[in-house]
Formats: sequence, C-alpha cells, structure tokens
Amino acid sequence: MPSPRFVSVALDIPLLPPLTYKVMEGTSPKIGDRCVVPIGNRSAVGLIVGVSNQTDIAEEKQKSYIRLLNETEALGDSWLKLTKFASDYYQHSWGEVAIAALPPFFRSKPGPKYEQSLERLRKPFKFKKTSQAVPALQLNNEQTAAVETLAASSGFRTFVLHGVTGSGKTEVYLRMMERVFSVNPQAQVLFLVPEINLTPQLQERVRSHFPDRSMATLHSGLANGERARAWLAAHEKRVQILIGTRMAIFADMPDLDLIIVDEEHDLSYKAGDGIRYSARDLAVKLAQLRGIAVVLGSATPSLETWSRVKSGRYHLLTLSKRAVQGAKLPTLSVVNPKNQKLVKGLCSEVIDAISETLQKNEQVIIFLNRRGYAPVLTCPSCGWLSKCPHCSTYAVYHKFHAKLICHHCGWSMPVYSRCPDCGNVDLQPMGAGTQRIEETLEELWPQARILRIDRDTTQRKNAAKLAFDAVHAGDVDILVGTQMVAKGHDFQKVSLVVVLNIDAQLVSANPRSEERAFANLMQVAGRAGRFGLPARMIVQSRFGDRELFAALAEQNYCRYADSLLAIRKAENTVPFVCQALLLADDVKIDKVLEFLSQALRLGEDILAAQVNQQVVIYDPIPMAVMKVADKERGQLLVEASSRGAMGLFLKQWYRVLSEIRSSVHWTMDVDPIDV
Ligand code: ADP
Ligand code: ZN
Ligand code: ZN
Repeated sequence: MPSPRFVSVALDIPLLPPLTYKVMEGTSPKIGDRCVVPIGNRSAVGLIVGVSNQTDIAEEKQKSYIRLLNETEALGDSWLKLTKFASDYYQHSWGEVAIAALPPFFRSKPGPKYEQSLERLRKPFKFKKTSQAVPALQLNNEQTAAVETLAASSGFRTFVLHGVTGSGKTEVYLRMMERVFSVNPQAQVLFLVPEINLTPQLQERVRSHFPDRSMATLHSGLANGERARAWLAAHEKRVQILIGTRMAIFADMPDLDLIIVDEEHDLSYKAGDGIRYSARDLAVKLAQLRGIAVVLGSATPSLETWSRVKSGRYHLLTLSKRAVQGAKLPTLSVVNPKNQKLVKGLCSEVIDAISETLQKNEQVIIFLNRRGYAPVLTCPSCGWLSKCPHCSTYAVYHKFHAKLICHHCGWSMPVYSRCPDCGNVDLQPMGAGTQRIEETLEELWPQARILRIDRDTTQRKNAAKLAFDAVHAGDVDILVGTQMVAKGHDFQKVSLVVVLNIDAQLVSANPRSEERAFANLMQVAGRAGRFGLPARMIVQSRFGDRELFAALAEQNYCRYADSLLAIRKAENTVPFVCQALLLADDVKIDKVLEFLSQALRLGEDILAAQVNQQVVIYDPIPMAVMKVADKERGQLLVEASSRGAMGLFLKQWYRVLSEIRSSVHWTMDVDPIDV
C-alpha cells in the first residue's frame, strides 16, 4: 500500500482540532501511530488520527512531522473511538484526552535511549507463585444463574450484578472470566476497582484462580516505568487480565472481551480534575464500541445505574443472600446520643457491646468518616477557631503530629500553644476524628489491641496491606477508621460494627449526601458476620426514624433506591435530567461571578436562537466551600432533558466561552457528582 501524503495529528492542546502534517519521506504512518511534530516554536508528541493524500494548506506552509513513533503497534480502533467519544462528551480536544490517556513514557518525546527503554519495558513480568490452588467453590443457584446469563449473551450488553455484601460477587466475576477464556483462550479482561490499595485480597484471588494467565495492575501508585510496562503489556497482548483503577479504562486491549466494574457506585471512578471523566460510564461505552459485555457490580448501585435497570436498559443479576453457609447480616440498632450521658462521646450501649465482643475474642470495627484528632481547635475564652488562612474551612487538629492541617489545600502549621488572639493557653479540640476515638478506646480498653486505618496511617507503600493483614491474622481487636475499613474486606471474626458521627452526612445540604451515607453504612455493615458469627451493628444517630435506617435494618437496597428514585422523578432532577457545571476560580470572587454572568448571557443567547427548551441554565453561585488555596470558586449549573441536547449545547457554548477575555480559570464538569 503506498504511503499517504498527509496525516492529521491530535495534540494535547485545548480547543485545537487535529493538525495536518506532511508524511516524512521513507516512513509509512498508520492511524493510531504516534509522532513528534513541530508546533509553534517547540515540538510535542501527537497522535495520528487520520491520513489523506490532499490538503488545503499552501505548499510553502506545509510542515512534516519530525519523527514517526511506530516501534509499538498502532493504537486500536476502539481505543481511538473511545477517546474521541470522551473528548466530545466531556468537552475537550481529542488530543487532550488521547495524549493524557497515555502513560507518561508514551506521551513524552523519546529520549536518546528510547529503543533500549522499550526493550526493558518488554521484559516479562515475574509472578510470585501462588501458595496453592484454592479448591473451587460450588456456586449457589443465584451465582450460577448470573454466570449462565452472561455466558448465554452475545454482543454488547450491560449487566448489573447486584449482590448484598458477602454474597459472592467476586466468585461470580471469576467464573464469568473463566467462561470468556473458555470461548476465546486469547481473550483479555479489564477488571476495574475503586482503589488498588484495598484490593490485595482480590489480586490474590484472581491470581490463584488463573495461575496460568498473565495478570498486571495499572493505577496511579505505580512508578512511571511500571505503569508504562503494564500498559504496553496490555497493548501487546502479553497480559490477559488487567486489574486497575479508573485510569485503566484507557488501556488499549486489542482482545478485550469482558469488562468488570466492581463497586460501580464508588465515587473514585469519576476524575476530580483535568478531564472529568467517569470510568464506569466509559466502560459501558467501550463495551458498546467493542460489542462485548460489561458487568457493573455493587451492593448499592448508583441511582444512575439503578434507573437504567428500571428502564430495562441494563440487565439485572441478583445475589440476594450471603454465600457462606450460616453467614448472616448484622442486626441493626440505632441509639440516640441526645438524651443520655455519654462517656467520651460514646453511648452506654456502644460501650457495653464493645466490652462483650472483646470478651468473646471477636473483632470490632469502629467507623467514623473523619480523620485527624478533631475537626477544629477552639479557644473557649474568646471564641477563636482554627480557620485555614487560605480556604473558607477549618484546619483539622492532628494531635500526634502536633499540627493543624487543612484537608482542602494541605496547608499546615505546628499547633498553637496559646490562642493567637487572646493568649489563653487552654485551647480545646471540638468534635472527634479517628485519632481522638483511637485515644478514647485506648483509655477505655487498655488491654485491647487497637489499630487505626485511615489516609494518615497508610501513606507509605504497603502500609494498608500490612494493616489489613494484621486484622485478618487476628492480631487486632478493634479496628477504627474511615471509609477505608468499610470497603471490600472479607473479615473472618468481626461481629460488631459501630458507626459514629454519621449525622453530619444526614443533615448536609447536599441532596446526595444521604444516599452516600446509606451506601457507606451498607458497606460497613457488610464487614460483619461474614463467617457465621452472629453480628450486630450499632449506629449513634439522632435520626433513627429516617427511611434509610429502616432499609438498612432489612439490608434492603431496592426499597431505598426505589423510594429515592420516586422522589428524584417527582423533583425532575438527576438521574432523570443531565447536568453539567461550569466551574470558575480566581483570587477575586467578583471576577469569578462576572465571568459566570457573562457565560450565562452567552448561553442564553444560544438557547434563544435555537428556541431550545430542553436546556436550562441556572444563576451563578459560589461553591459550597467557596475558597480553596486562596482561590475563590463559583459555578453555573446547566440541566438538559437528554444527553444529546446537553452535548449539542455544550459544544456551542464552549466555543463562545473560550472567546471571553478574562483571566479567570474555568473548566467544565459533565455529569458532576456534586452540585
Ligand atoms: P462479595 O464480593 O459479594 O462481598 P465475595 O465474593 O468476597 O463476596 O464472597 C464472600 C465470601 O463468600 C468469600 O469468603 C467467598 O469465598 C465465599 N463464597 C463465595 N461464593 C461461595 C459459594 N458458592 N459457596 C461458599 N462460599 C462462597
Ligand atoms: Zn482566645
Ligand atoms: Zn486550606
């Protein structure tokens, strides 16, 4: 085939459509190859997204690329289509999405030893031999039905595997993979997880189930070299099973035959900055592009997913009971801390239950969604509070480091020995975080072995794994921690779960806050009673009469989700409408609001010209936490009755917005998780 004369190249530059370059003599570029191109007075790696034999560009203005990078296979068709889709949907240029989706090694200009580096990256993975093959479990009827339904389907289909905690979802994923491999021994499987730190157990299970298949992980904790290596291995089909966090959705897997998204409701699937994509949503898109099945698993599916189950777009697979014989879900009691005397913030029921559990040599989990010692330090004599100087929030008191730390911007300083305003030396912590609860537990049960797991205790590599190993080994009596203790773990001896301070989430102005509290509670309840011990869950809350506790007591997700969906439908809000946010920040709030007002006017002009009634733009408002790291932040909410209407509007709007002359920094968030 003769080489084309021109290529179009997508570059990591906002608003820039692919640019045309001449093909360098002696090279034969393909769509999906990378190349180094001159751009302005520099050069950059771009992606070839089109080839042709003619151009409108005048002869003397034509430039050629400097180097073609085709030492690796070209990126595949579905990868190109996926990045193109994401660029349209999330309002970024194709190059911004596609280049950013590559590991740093493949998006940087090649160094002098590029070829040698590539060879090193191709060195085969060394696997630790698994201890021994685990005997295969006999699937129960519901598990079998789930696996058979998937096996009998062909082409694109979205399955929702809804199973209570401990119902054996993981086992179902493994058998589904097995089926896929039995049909196509070369098949590749992408297994997405919320946070890799929390899944060493999962990796071991996959490993021992498929001892002869190559497996790799892809996540942001990897060094650049490791990341490039795993990515390249998937791209070159040397890895069949790829386990990864949201970034792994952009791995290019030529033989991809199945995608699994575990804990599909988890917020970490949505990117919080840069291109704000949802890896779960892109997983469904990718499955559609490839004509394969995708499985979204959860004990508490997101309302978006649940509404699509209800409308028949997604196919529901249900696991209604725990898989281990005799395993029971914990019984729930909600105790009201309001009208009783608390001991260091704990109700007497909680204290008695902990003592009883320790006496029986069983384990306790204390769940509290707030790290640090106390959320704020205060001066009782003048009312001073530990505000962060750079944000509109408080700096959290961390007693063990003797520091005040802002969880929003990272600012920190040694804790004051006296009040900076009045000189009083008796500063008091207000409220409790995990560190303070840990201290309380140590005072009340000095003999107990207490372990705290939160972001502060698990910063070092492997720290989380070692900590969880200690719990599994029975070396811990009381485990106290944040969400990290709630997720995924198959603990053997936990028979009591205590939840403190969930009320902050139940009184929040954010309408989605309660639904997240419910998911957290279901998750943490799921850690108890997994192996036949009768188990209890005690929640300290002033809102015991709320619907969510009734649903939690029955572990009845469907009832709760259905009731929420009915409310959302009546209020005509998500997931029945689509949302997008225009986010802006600057050191001056006036400038932010001025920019947003201008954006609002321009948007309304577009809608008026089209007589478009499917899209509504609301007034600009400051964000809930208005100032972060000295930047004042505001937002504009757009709602549309369909994704199509939203997409069309955003595209036009984006174009006029980028012509506004303003120093304000702005970005768009399509399908935001918080409004
Ligand atoms: P989930 O992912 O739904 O929380 P897991 O897949 O971790 O549940 O399974 C929970 C426990 O049940 C694990 O210890 C697993 O080995 C066990 N298990 C799963 N399926 C079966 C089965 N069919 N028979 C017996 N035990 C099972
Ligand atoms: Zn004071
Ligand atoms: Zn701050």
